[in-house]
Amino acid sequence: MENYNILRGKDKIGENLIEIFYGETKLLVELGKALDGGDELSDVEKAAIREKYDAVVVSHYHADHAGLIEQKKDCPIYIGAGARRILEAMDEYKGKTLPKNIVAYNNGKPFYVGKIKITPLLCDHSAFDSYMLLFEAGGKSILYTGDFRFHGRKNSDDLFARLPRHIDTLISEGTNIGSDKPCFSERELEESAVELFKATDKPVFVLQSASNIDRLVSVYRAAKRSGRIFYEDIYTALLAGAAGGKIPRPDVFNDVYAFTPRFVQDKRKEMFFEFEHKRGVARIDKGKPFVMLVRPSMLGFLKKLAAKMNLDGALLIYSMWSGYRENDDVKKFLTVAKDLGLVERTLHTSGHASMQDVKRLIERVSATKYEIVHTAPTDSCYSPDEFNMAD
Ligand SMILES: [Zn+2]
Ligand SMILES: [Zn+2]
Repeated sequence: MENYNILRGKDKIGENLIEIFYGETKLLVELGKALDGGDELSDVEKAAIREKYDAVVVSHYHADHAGLIEQKKDCPIYIGAGARRILEAMDEYKGKTLPKNIVAYNNGKPFYVGKIKITPLLCDHSAFDSYMLLFEAGGKSILYTGDFRFHGRKNSDDLFARLPRHIDTLISEGTNIGSDKPCFSERELEESAVELFKATDKPVFVLQSASNIDRLVSVYRAAKRSGRIFYEDIYTALLAGAAGGKIPRPDVFNDVYAFTPRFVQDKRKEMFFEFEHKRGVARIDKGKPFVMLVRPSMLGFLKKLAAKMNLDGALLIYSMWSGYRENDDVKKFLTVAKDLGLVERTLHTSGHASMQDVKRLIERVSATKYEIVHTAPTDSCYSPDEFNMAD
């Protein structure tokens, strides 16, 4: 099965669209949205939605991989079971329901579409429940990596044990190709966060993506280790609840509390009141020192908080790709935070493999041929698709 066609993604960061076909079966791998495309669909996106496929297979929920899946109704769309729960939670927050043709696959459990065997292999990335996808048919194999890294919180041993010894074609992400900088790990990031949190008795705010569950764990652990309680806004708390397991969330973790950044009258108000561990603005500074997750949309809330408590000298950790600093809402948030007296520090690591780790993978699967997608010339270790503007 040498048959594939990279419709988009070879000279772009993200937005992969790849066709894989064998015999009568035709698959589309990924159905993302151009990150700079606004609400308008491009011609290639319109064609992908219109085209007849037997199935769409998606590696993870980031918008540049899955942003358009709800618009394709005419075939099954496969995504990881945990990622599907996250998408459901995102939709619930927006008052929507996830379409029924979006169905779940599980780690290491092969499934067939026509004669093509598809095996999802769980990997580490800045999105929860992300997979590499192995396609096999007619004695040939294609491994598509989706987005991955080896420096996250997840141990790569299980993935390495499951990877075949030989692949005919490897289609790998290459976000950090062009940079020889190693990426520091999530665990190193946690250590740096502990040091920063312990060095102050002021409140700590962390600007990060709600759907970056690995980062959520790193920041929560640093909060706990520095004797602080942890505040999650209801959107993050919903996503953390959908992830489940050992992911920090209100009620299940006794030091995690929900807060609501704005006075909401709709269903979201009910969502807030359903949490047992919750605090309104008036009670946020009562009790232990805290770490609170924030996003640019919470600017009004931050101002409200500043009117209730002294934020002068409080810490603001910037924990996203540096490129988002150019976004108007991020710029405004950082400026106002500075005016309120918050002191900014940056703490971030890429959601994508370093160049050394891409090479490690290529060697591990001894690929006859490889293609690099999700790439563009760059000199920094960065994560273009970590930010989820869902709220
Ligand atoms: Zn991506
Ligand atoms: Zn991604």
